Amino acid sequence: IPNRFAGATVVVTGAGSGIGKATATRLLAEGARVIASDLDAERLDALSVEVGDAPLTTVVGDVSDDAVIAQIVEVGEGRITGLVNNAGIMDAFVPTAEIDDALWERVLRINVTAPMKLMRAVLPAMVEAGHGRIVNVASEASIRAGASGTPYATSKHAVVGLTKSTALFYGPAGVRVNAVAPGAVATNIEAPFRSELGAQRLGPIMQATVPAPATAEQLAASITWLLSEDSANVNGALLMSDGGWSTI
Ligand code: NAD
Repeated sequence: IPNRFAGATVVVTGAGSGIGKATATRLLAEGARVIASDLDAERLDALSVEVGDAPLTTVVGDVSDDAVIAQIVEVGEGRITGLVNNAGIMDAFVPTAEIDDALWERVLRINVTAPMKLMRAVLPAMVEAGHGRIVNVASEASIRAGASGTPYATSKHAVVGLTKSTALFYGPAGVRVNAVAPGAVATNIEAPFRSELGAQRLGPIMQATVPAPATAEQLAASITWLLSEDSANVNGALLMSDGGWSTI
């Protein structure tokens, strides 16, 4: 949709790959200015080359790092109208008794603490402008077990609480905050649902329910809908974008 996001400045974390890359690319094609963050400098360089002279600013670094968050806000120059908290990591389907403290802390820090910190950082300017659009990337693992291990499921359930609570507090100020829950999506994340590890960890019955993976572009369509004015009456929602996996 040409110019759907004209005038918007949208931060997309984890924009070097998969869902984040597809979302950043679509936003640029639809007229937004995009601030793309990723750990991986090479991936951001590749994105810059692919989008040519579209208004893309890149920020390299760990988005759970306060200095990186400060840099994102700085390059936004007070004009950030949208935020897509997309960067996230998986947990190798680890069950509770086998959780290593370092894995637990890393998954919670990147999947939960970083989105909170980024929202905290961009909300004041959005409230001041009386306008803001935030989308947090949740997961099938936000609503039940059987799509990941325990750390990831815990983190993605927390993303829903973070989303609803922020939506309730800031909706009256003109800021809408929603979450999207992808099912299986073909990206670079390590989520080998169909592998032997998947069968071992999730069990063959659960594994057999996993639908064919969606494309990152299909998720970008759901995310940009939540950023757009077509979702004007939607706040605090968890949009399942999973090809119907959650119906089982
Ligand atoms: P991906 O691995 O293809 O892309 C994620 C990008 O985020 C990578 O480029 C990575 O370098 C970056 N990243 C990771 N940690 C970061 C950090 N700390 N700071 C900055 N950048 C960081 O993965 P994807 O599948 O596109 O995942 C995007 C989101 O979708 C994640 O939140 C993930 O949990 C969620 N999700 C994915 C699936 C799936 O099946 N692919 C399913 C449900 C939810």
